[in-house]
Amino acid sequence: MRQSISTAGGVIILAVSFAASNQAQVSTGHLSRGADFVLLHGHLWTGEPYAGPGEKPAQTRYAEALAAANGRILAVGDDSEISAYIGPNTQVVDLQGRFAMPGFIDDHVHFVDGSFQLLEVDLKHAPSEAEFARLIGEKAKTLPAGRWILGGNWDEEAWPDAELPTRGLIDALTPNNPVYVSRYDGHAGLANSLALKLAGVTRDTPSPVGGVIVHDPKTGEPTGILKDAAQDLVLRVIPNPSEREFEEAIRTGLAEARRVGVTSVEDMALGGDTPDGGFASEIRLLRRAEIEGWLTCRFYEITPIEQWQRLAEAGISHGMGSDWLQLGAVKGFADGSLGSRTAWFFDPYTDDASNRGMPLPMMHPPAKMEAAVRGADAAGIQLAVHAIGDRAIAEMLDIYARVGGADAPVHRFRIEHAQHMRPEDFKRFGQLGIVASMQPYHAIDDGRWAEKRIGHERARYSYAWRSMLEAGAPLAFGTDWPVAPLNPLLGVYAAVTRATLDGKHPEGWFPEQRLTVDEALRAYTQGSAYAAFQEHDKGTLAPGKLADVIVLSDDPFKTAPEKIRDLTVTMTIVGGRVVQQMP
Ligand SMILES: [Zn+2]
Repeated sequence: MRQSISTAGGVIILAVSFAASNQAQVSTGHLSRGADFVLLHGHLWTGEPYAGPGEKPAQTRYAEALAAANGRILAVGDDSEISAYIGPNTQVVDLQGRFAMPGFIDDHVHFVDGSFQLLEVDLKHAPSEAEFARLIGEKAKTLPAGRWILGGNWDEEAWPDAELPTRGLIDALTPNNPVYVSRYDGHAGLANSLALKLAGVTRDTPSPVGGVIVHDPKTGEPTGILKDAAQDLVLRVIPNPSEREFEEAIRTGLAEARRVGVTSVEDMALGGDTPDGGFASEIRLLRRAEIEGWLTCRFYEITPIEQWQRLAEAGISHGMGSDWLQLGAVKGFADGSLGSRTAWFFDPYTDDASNRGMPLPMMHPPAKMEAAVRGADAAGIQLAVHAIGDRAIAEMLDIYARVGGADAPVHRFRIEHAQHMRPEDFKRFGQLGIVASMQPYHAIDDGRWAEKRIGHERARYSYAWRSMLEAGAPLAFGTDWPVAPLNPLLGVYAAVTRATLDGKHPEGWFPEQRLTVDEALRAYTQGSAYAAFQEHDKGTLAPGKLADVIVLSDDPFKTAPEKIRDLTVTMTIVGGRVVQQMP
């Protein structure tokens, strides 16, 4: 790798060249003062040699050390080899034998939603009314007067007296902040008195069609609980976030990504109701973060399919942008979700014999989806479509096969979730090279109740990562954050154990679909990179690639599977810069 070292005026000059043609050349001029950044004495799982979809990975190479300059990896090797890259301005980090690996790439997040959710109050685990009120009061202390307290996820059924909360519980704790916190199912919410006042809801306000304003039977005053359509009375007066609040949310989301070792995300950009009409405001803010230097995670923006023409008209195709922010992919929806029985199946739901779920409007009829896929694809835009039920997945495979024709794999069409499969469709993923963009955490979460919805036989081919790999499908991992936590180690844990969250399947729910640690890490790094046409830039530790590296508290290969979820990220390095370090 390193060809010559000479010294001129006491400064070490390194000349490097790389054999592999697909790796970026690093200009030698930048190296006259050594590498910017060197990691020594580590146990580096490199992910190399890179294995493409359908290839059996060879024994993964390990290394001790790594050198980087100008954001990219110069060399990976043993300590003595890499020490030669240390110059007067090199930041050297001694890993003291710790396990390091390429940064995680989450291939499916809703970054703005997740980020705002971090600023909201989470009442999911409140075991009582008193704790519910206390958490809201604590949140109020952190916010300026006038700022809304949002969030929720509460469930009064989990409280001792199982009664709906009232505004009286929280009014005294939130005199200056309007509050609207939703029940976990979204069918009801609690407003405080200030929020009701801003919404103009009084004892005389009639309940709207399809909704209920709950009144105190004694006083006749609204209790603050609004059900179904009545929620709009308050929701419509909640202001859109200001630019400053938007920035605060994104900064909070970036901090979370650094904390859990996510160095790249493939982000389902906003669809609709933002101050200036959708994804543009998000992309502008990310771009500003890039320019101002506080973007610490790389973004591959996947914008709504309904607006593919906006990208096409601007000449934007996949991969356009920088190392930090890329555009040129769109996302559509073929169906709904398993939980709400709206995922689209060939056969009826096991617990609802009259229902097979349904296609979403974009897929109704499928010719509509096909036209959008064809148009976007012709413009060089990558396609990612949410499909969960076996019928929705099969219809999407048909569409992709027709649009992609003989060279379908070149297009890297994506199916997001690919949750419940017909057995015969796995091989089509492989043949068409369709990216199976999957979220391992969903298996241990939904696995608690999925069999009730679809029965044992269909559950056998659900969240079926092993079957996807065996079929030669490109497998990429992510979370769907905030639907699941952003922490990738929980996903790796889920992939390796398939132990459902209720503790009922300690040996694994359909254990034949479990992955090895090596397979799970690959899907979460190089697999996700491939899903965004970025495998030459990231996903493994190799010369020429971006210097995105994380250090773990322990080696996951030497950790008992059930303990993988307890591992933490002790250091996050993005572009050869330490952006997070545990004290
Ligand atoms: Zn999603």
